[in-house]
Amino acid sequence: MPTMPNTFRAPHAPSRSEQVKEYDKRRGSSRERGYTTKWDKASRAFLGKHRICLACELAGFDQRTEVTDHIVPHKGDKALFWDRTNWQACCRWHHDVVKQMLEREYLAGAISRSDLSLTSRVALDLAARLRV
Ligand SMILES: [Zn+2]
Repeated sequence: MPTMPNTFRAPHAPSRSEQVKEYDKRRGSSRERGYTTKWDKASRAFLGKHRICLACELAGFDQRTEVTDHIVPHKGDKALFWDRTNWQACCRWHHDVVKQMLEREYLAGAISRSDLSLTSRVALDLAARLRV
């Protein structure tokens, strides 16, 4: 059974858990960013209504949804956070890989706000390139 390899860490470099703590301190913990029990419940209900990842389905794959994503990053804006028209249900891969790349391109000014939807042409093309 393969085990996770030991990774090299300089003697005074922060451990993974210290890095996570520091990251949370800078941007606030997930609870501080609005991901409360109320969010968990609303997200679960949303995912219950959207069971298949639409972006995967458009590409011919059947993948169940796992994440309620904010199409336009809310950055602490409560109105945008709770605006259901800004939510999209997606699979873990679309959220963790495709959406993160889209958000980086959006912040760099390379794509528009409407391209952040995982069913946009830009997103579908990006996902298709990543799948190969
Ligand atoms: Zn997907």
